[in-house]
Amino acid sequence: MIDYLIVGLGLAGISFCEQLEKNNKTFRVIADSSQTSSVVAGGLYNPVILKRFTLAWQAEEQMKTASAFYAHLERKLGVKLNYELPVYRRFHSVEEQNLWFEASDKKGLDRFLNTSVHANTNVHVDAPFGYGEVRHTGRIDTEKLVSSYKKYLQEKDLVIEETFDYNRLQYTDDRVEYDALSARKIVFAEGFGLKENPFFNYLPLQGSKGEYVFIEAHDLKEDKAIKSSVFIIPQGNNIYRVGANYERHDKTNLPTESAREGLLAKLRTVLKCDFKVVDQVAGVRPTVVDRKPLVGRHPKFKSLHILNGFGSRGVLIGPSAAKQLYMFAEDGQELDSELDIARFTQKYFQQSFS
Ligand SMILES: Cc1cc2nc3c(=O)[nH]c(=O)nc-3n(C[C@H](O)[C@H](O)[C@H](O)COP(=O)(O)OP(=O)(O)OC[C@H]3O[C@@H](n4cnc5c(N)ncnc54)[C@H](O)[C@@H]3O)c2cc1C
Repeated sequence: MIDYLIVGLGLAGISFCEQLEKNNKTFRVIADSSQTSSVVAGGLYNPVILKRFTLAWQAEEQMKTASAFYAHLERKLGVKLNYELPVYRRFHSVEEQNLWFEASDKKGLDRFLNTSVHANTNVHVDAPFGYGEVRHTGRIDTEKLVSSYKKYLQEKDLVIEETFDYNRLQYTDDRVEYDALSARKIVFAEGFGLKENPFFNYLPLQGSKGEYVFIEAHDLKEDKAIKSSVFIIPQGNNIYRVGANYERHDKTNLPTESAREGLLAKLRTVLKCDFKVVDQVAGVRPTVVDRKPLVGRHPKFKSLHILNGFGSRGVLIGPSAAKQLYMFAEDGQELDSELDIARFTQKYFQQSFS
C-alpha cells in the first residue's frame, strides 16, 4: 500500500508530489494530456493586479514559498525554469500614472511598485505615457517544468500515463483502490478536467479559456514583459508571446481564429514594427466563482482530496496550496478557510439530496 494516488500532473499535481517527496511519502501519479493549462501558461509570477494596482490574494506569502520551490526544482531536475523578468505596465493616461504613484506609497505594495514613471525608449512600441515597473517578477517555464517532471517520475516508475476512470475507484474512509493500486488517500488535481469528476463536480469551477499567439519580431528587441491590453512576453530569439484572452463559453483546448484576430488587433495598437505569427496555443484556466483555490477533503468520503482552482495564478498559488493540503491531510492542521472547499459543503448536500 502506498500513501497517495494523485490524478493529474500540472502545477497542482507537481506541487503535491513535491510535498510527498519532501516528507518521504510513497505515491503514484495517473495523468493524461487532456488538459493543457500548465503547459501553455505564460508562467508569469507577479504579485500585483495590474488592472487595479492592488496586491493579489496572499501574494507576498506565496512569493516566498514559490521562490524556494522553483529554485529547488531547478536543482533537482537540472533545468532552468525561472527567468527573472521585469513587468512594465503601460500607462494609458496621466490619471493612471497618478493612481500608480498613490498605490506605490501603500504598505505592502511599496516593495513591488517602482515609484518613478519609466519613459518609453523603444521606437517600435507606442507608449506615450510611459510605464510603471513591477519589481520581483519573472517567468517560470511551465512547459519545461511539466515535461521535465514527467520524465523524472517516468525514470522512477511513478507515473501511469492514462486517463483516470472514476468508475474503477473503490474507497473507504482510510483507503482507496484503483486496479492493483492501494493507497491511503487520493488527491484529485485535474485542473478543468474536474468537471468529469463525479465526487467533486459539485464545486463551482467555471473555467476560462485563454490563448496566446507567438510572434517573431526581429526589430522589437524588447527584454521586458509589457502589459498593455495584452501581455507581450519575450521568449528569446526574437520570439514574443502575446496574450492571453479570457473566454468563458468555449471550454476546449483548441486555438481559434477569433482569439488570434482579437489578440493581434490589440497588439497592433501598441506594436509599431513588422512581425509574423509563428504559433498559437490554448488552454482552460481552472477558475472558481469566488476566485479562490479549491483545497480539502470530500464532505463525505474521507480518503478523497482535491487540489484545484488556481485560476490564472497557478505559478504562485500552487506551492503554497499544496503545502496547506499536505499539512491538513497528514497533520490535521486547519486549512485557510478562504481556500477550504468546506465553504461549498452546503452546495454538496443540497445537490445530493435534491
Ligand atoms: C493561456 C493561459 C495563460 C496562463 N498564464 C499564467 C501565468 O502567466 N501565470 C500563472 O501563474 N498562471 C497562468 N495560467 C494559469 C495556470 O496555467 C493554471 O493556474 C495552472 O496551470 C493550473 O494547474 P492545474 O495543475 O490545476 O491544472 P492543469 O494544468 O490543467 O493540469 C491538470 C492535469 O490533470 C490531467 N487530467 C485531467 N483529467 C484527468 C483524468 N481524468 N485522468 C488523468 N489525468 C487527468 C490533465 O491532463 C493535466 O495533466 C495561465 C493559463 C492559461 C490557460
